[in-house]
Amino acid sequence: LPKSRSGPKGFGFLRWRGVLTTGRVRSIVIVGGGTAGWMTAAALARVLGPDYADIHLIESDAIGTVGVGEATIPQINVFNRMLGIDENDFVRRTKGSFKLGIEFVDWGGIGQRYFHPFGDYGIDMEGVSFHSYWMRMAKAGEFTDVNDFSLMARAAYDGKFMRPIDAGNSPLSRIAYAFHFDAGLYAAYLRELAETAGARRTEGRIVDIERDGDSGHIAAAKLESGERIEGELFIDCSGFRGLLIGETLGVPYIDWRNFLPCDRAVALPCERLDSLPPYTRSTAHKAGWQWRIPLQHRIGNGHVYCSEYMSDDEAAAILTDNLDGAPLGDPRVIRFTTGHRQRFWEGNCVSIGLSAGFMEPLESTSIWMIQTGIARLLSNFPDKSFAAADRDRYNRLMVEESEFIRDFLVLHYHATTRDDSAFWDYCRNMPIPERLAEKMRVFENSGRTFREHDELFNDTSWFAVMLGQQLPVRAYDPVADLLSFEETHKRLAHIRDAVRNSADYMPAHDAYIAENCAA
Ligand code: FAD
Repeated sequence: LPKSRSGPKGFGFLRWRGVLTTGRVRSIVIVGGGTAGWMTAAALARVLGPDYADIHLIESDAIGTVGVGEATIPQINVFNRMLGIDENDFVRRTKGSFKLGIEFVDWGGIGQRYFHPFGDYGIDMEGVSFHSYWMRMAKAGEFTDVNDFSLMARAAYDGKFMRPIDAGNSPLSRIAYAFHFDAGLYAAYLRELAETAGARRTEGRIVDIERDGDSGHIAAAKLESGERIEGELFIDCSGFRGLLIGETLGVPYIDWRNFLPCDRAVALPCERLDSLPPYTRSTAHKAGWQWRIPLQHRIGNGHVYCSEYMSDDEAAAILTDNLDGAPLGDPRVIRFTTGHRQRFWEGNCVSIGLSAGFMEPLESTSIWMIQTGIARLLSNFPDKSFAAADRDRYNRLMVEESEFIRDFLVLHYHATTRDDSAFWDYCRNMPIPERLAEKMRVFENSGRTFREHDELFNDTSWFAVMLGQQLPVRAYDPVADLLSFEETHKRLAHIRDAVRNSADYMPAHDAYIAENCAA
């Protein structure tokens, strides 16, 4: 160490308390090879590399993966860039398509539909949000379709797609997009990246977990074959059962079914559509909702429902009756409990993916939760002391992230005029988290929406869903009177035309895929 300049005990301006480091973690064991396991392995191998630590993933072919999880949000682009993924190769190999947002059908009321686009509406003017000006105009009967101000919404409905280009102020510079992909192919793709970057894989069923007698930390996983795999840091990616975090360490699960009552899904892929819509569709039914995810080789479909209000047979029948193509296989029921682990990280075990929690796929947020779990693990990476400081911070951030997303999802269920079933009666009247209730009161008073701190969904997303779910509004934001009516009108007309021209300029989604990334 360099000599201290500030006295014998100092080191620069830092005052060290004890050892400089207790030693770095040199072996990481990832339990599970679904989307969570392979995303984690690929990211850790890429960022830390095999010279830093041995990265060893265990998965069981006999147990398999959950096999769903095929729609994403634009933040996945950050993850892909971090892994150095060639995007066209990625879409081709996962038989994927591009996604510009989600269409919600029959949510606010039967017969209604709205679009939750990625990106923003228009552009903020004089420091006031665009949607405040839009509300002022819409109240006067002008520009009443908010989709006219989102290139993502317009292009989605026109079946258009391209990546953003450098086009100055044009909306074409701000195209926000994500992907739909085949979950099985995605895990295989990530596995290749992880193994290329130095991660190891062992196939086999874990039958026992050994713990250290003193610390209670996990010491090793024992496989059916008799093999014993030791590690210092364990990452639980074992899916809903939470083999390490739940079954071994006993970390309780916080049950959110009072807010998000759906607890089952029936999945059934069908033949693909003639042309690929660049968006996910979510259609509300009597006791839940149905997803439609268009891929190059098939459509992913599923019906999420609440078992208290609907039987598995009825849910499967509704799904089968509402497919866009001939079914491929038989319906498969998946059970879940919405909520999360009280602590995502316990001792030397971090849970990532379904083992850590699940909030249903309404806004495609689970893969994001995996991504943010990995990013936060890396930025709070432990040494062998597994200090409470790192763990506590990680746990606080992950719980906050989950609660913000939960509030946004609850909004979809609660802010509805649907009264056609006992399920919707429950959702309309259920107690909701206070922070969401406050957001709804603010919107109802002035049409204002806010992003709190670091929350995932921004004010545009909140606005799209509150408007789409038909929350009543008393008045528009008074600050939107800042510009004269004529000036506001002129600027909105200009933005609408720019969006329209940009959508016209974009190629068809099918043509874009055929040219760049057809499977
Ligand atoms: P799994 O896929 O279940 O993987 C668990 C792994 O652990 C497997 O490899 C298994 O073999 C292994 N394992 C378990 N026990 C053992 C053992 N004893 N020994 C060895 N190995 C073991 N997310 C989105 O972002 N977008 C979506 O559109 C979306 N839709 C969804 C729809 C539904 C109905 C559900 C349920 C989830 C959806 N998700 C979605 C979530 C997404 O599917 C998951 O977040 C993602 O697949 C991660 O799952 P996982 O890797 O944690 O678990």
